[in-house]
Amino acid sequence: MTQRLKEGTQLLLATHNKGKLAEVQAMLAPFHVSVISAGDLNLDEPEETGTTFSENALLKAHAAAKASGLAALADDSGLCVEALNDAPGIYSARWAGEQKDFTAAMQRIENELKEKSLKTSPAHFMCVLALGFPDGTSQVFEGRVDGALTFPPRGENGFGYDPIFIATGATRTFAEMDMAEKKKFSHRARAFAALAKSVLPGEVAA
Ligand code: IMP
Repeated sequence: MTQRLKEGTQLLLATHNKGKLAEVQAMLAPFHVSVISAGDLNLDEPEETGTTFSENALLKAHAAAKASGLAALADDSGLCVEALNDAPGIYSARWAGEQKDFTAAMQRIENELKEKSLKTSPAHFMCVLALGFPDGTSQVFEGRVDGALTFPPRGENGFGYDPIFIATGATRTFAEMDMAEKKKFSHRARAFAALAKSVLPGEVAA
């Protein structure tokens, strides 16, 4: 059953990824909730042992809600490349390694496409937002954006795989867009719109 948050609820953002955090904070700004991040509370990041975006989002939301006693919002997301059987998918962060080297991760995608004699591929970003409560209940919201890959990477904004992704209907990569323009297309904005519609108090996202 949908549980709408009360005005003034303190909501914990269960992510340590600065790029995601900035986007979700901006999306939450018009709503009547107060936001703190997992980093502010020094919470540990649980190991992502799930096999789907939903499982990993739920795992992170439940761990953070339990540790903090607050409603916790977690995002699990990634880039799925059609010609690579939807890799890196849930392993999108892990392809960049401990160093979080996304130049190397994007190069790996380009190399794996080259091995198949391809220069590009259709691809999509997926985002699952999980809202977990200290009593163990939860809700999930999904968003997806379809597009295609481009090499070499272009643009300086955003994070992760943004420089190689062009959404259907756009001509620039996500990394060439500012946050407001990326929001018109992004998987995270779409998942967030579903969350806002049924759960957040106050203004409903446009
Ligand atoms: P996780 O959900 O923290 O396991 O990691 C998701 C990973 O997917 C991020 O580290 C990025 O590499 C990638 N990703 C998710 N959303 C985006 C996006 O909006 N732009 C670019 N890369 C993204």
